[in-house]
Amino acid sequence: MHGLMMGDQLLVTNIMRFADRNFPDTEIVSVIGGHSVHRCTYADAFKRTRRLANALRTLGLQEGDRIGTLAWNDFRHFEIYYAASCSGAVCHTVNPRLFPEQIAYIVDHAQDQWIFADPMFADLLDSLWPTLQSPQGVIFLTDADHVPDTGIPRVLDYESLIAEQDEQFDWPDLDERSASALCYTSGTTGHPKGVLYDHRSTIIHAYAACMPDVMGLANRDTVLAVVPMFHANAWSLPYACPMVGARMVLPGPAMGDPAMLADLMDSESVTATMGVPTVWLSLLAYLRESGRRPGDLERMVVGGAACPRSLMEAFQDEYGVRVHHSWGMTEMSPLGVFNSPTRGALSLPPEQHPDIRIKQGRGVFGVEMRIVDENSDELPWDGVTSGALQVRGPWVCGEYFQPDEPDPAHLEDGWFDTGDVATIDRLGFMQITDRAKDVIKSGGEWISSIGLENATMGHPEVAEAAVIAVPHPKWSERPLLLIVRREGSELSRETILQWLEPMVARWWLPEEVLFIDEIPHTATGKIAKTELRQRYGRHPLPGASTE
Ligand code: ADP
Repeated sequence: MHGLMMGDQLLVTNIMRFADRNFPDTEIVSVIGGHSVHRCTYADAFKRTRRLANALRTLGLQEGDRIGTLAWNDFRHFEIYYAASCSGAVCHTVNPRLFPEQIAYIVDHAQDQWIFADPMFADLLDSLWPTLQSPQGVIFLTDADHVPDTGIPRVLDYESLIAEQDEQFDWPDLDERSASALCYTSGTTGHPKGVLYDHRSTIIHAYAACMPDVMGLANRDTVLAVVPMFHANAWSLPYACPMVGARMVLPGPAMGDPAMLADLMDSESVTATMGVPTVWLSLLAYLRESGRRPGDLERMVVGGAACPRSLMEAFQDEYGVRVHHSWGMTEMSPLGVFNSPTRGALSLPPEQHPDIRIKQGRGVFGVEMRIVDENSDELPWDGVTSGALQVRGPWVCGEYFQPDEPDPAHLEDGWFDTGDVATIDRLGFMQITDRAKDVIKSGGEWISSIGLENATMGHPEVAEAAVIAVPHPKWSERPLLLIVRREGSELSRETILQWLEPMVARWWLPEEVLFIDEIPHTATGKIAKTELRQRYGRHPLPGASTE
């Protein structure tokens, strides 16, 4: 028997209509080129969104066409998100920090028809243009006076494009399963793979993001989105904020500028912010150095890579900010788990709280999770046994977009293999111990590179640390610890090993520590382990040759 409720489709269009109607005066504050601050309201942005939707029609764009963006977090990128998806096209966000060959591959693989680009990426596009097959032209996100000089034959500017367009647009009645957005994972092996979100998955995911034990977004919040809109939908913020009418602060190209982030926190009275650990590490260093504070910031979400315990403690203890750890991936829209205190966790002795809070978090309703051994047998939730982490749910990618190669991650029984290795405790808190390919297999046991990195990062003289496996004749692999010292530090191998001794199992202790100038990062801010393995993966270990 069918229920008798209205069968309205879950569409991104509904978020726009709702926010336009209910929160027309709520502000979107954007940093744009030259670090100037631009202010508009949801009503202003959605009016321009309707003009843009008309412009997309005049450009000949049809339902299902892909529209590429190479853009920072700002109001124009927000408008493209809605104009593209709600008119039935697909908003394909391209990460400008990827290698140029990857960008070219992605744009052509997605068959992007037009590219909306920040003028800052003019040179990049200029050099790629002769090799690109699909795009008809580029629309620079600026006005007629600031269009950069390029050899690209068809170039328009955003402001002129929308200026003469009608402010009304008849949004189509779409099927909720129609594609709304596309984002490629950076693909550490093989080609990048496309994750094609639909309207329904986007809406359900945004609801979940707002839940109190998830990001807890509320109307009174001012949210500083330091997660890029070109990567995994900025963790849903461009949808979740208008859903509740939260004020948005979009840092534009200043995303990696801690002074600017601190300025925005102060001047805009930011209450909540989200970003990857590298961003927060540089903000912390800046705050300590300058003696400034992060304004009225109440909470900070850290995800995308493991949150160092020292980072969590510093923001909590020094600045009174509630730090929430979270884990997810592009294939999961991206929310997977979120760490908020539960009754069970709070009833544990206080000295155990930090160990729980540093875990990645608990499953969010909408994501099912399991850990399995190499025979795919499910492992217990005891907080100790680790195994391959698999997920399923309505906002988890069901298959990649037109894959070039076989896809072993999507399993026959409907689960998705995340490539991460994790434990889950009896309270349901999941902790990532490693990426499957980063784990160090020493004498048949696994050493967590993340565990060692976190313990090392707790030392006050360590700016950043990374651990990779190097081959060993007896143990098969042993950890090599790479450290970037803080400026002026003389930290020695002996001192750091002494520091680690009480914190990790004895057999985890690395034989070798290398002090290096810089740790490379991927386009999404994670430690580039592949590059480190290429550089240091054959580093001789003391005693290894004689064993
Ligand atoms: P990309 O590979 O394109 O950078 P993602 O952002 O989708 O893509 O990366 C997802 C991966 O990032 C996860 O599978 C996991 O390995 C890692 N990750 C994300 N959040 C965390 C976290 N809080 N702790 C540890 N690892 C994390």
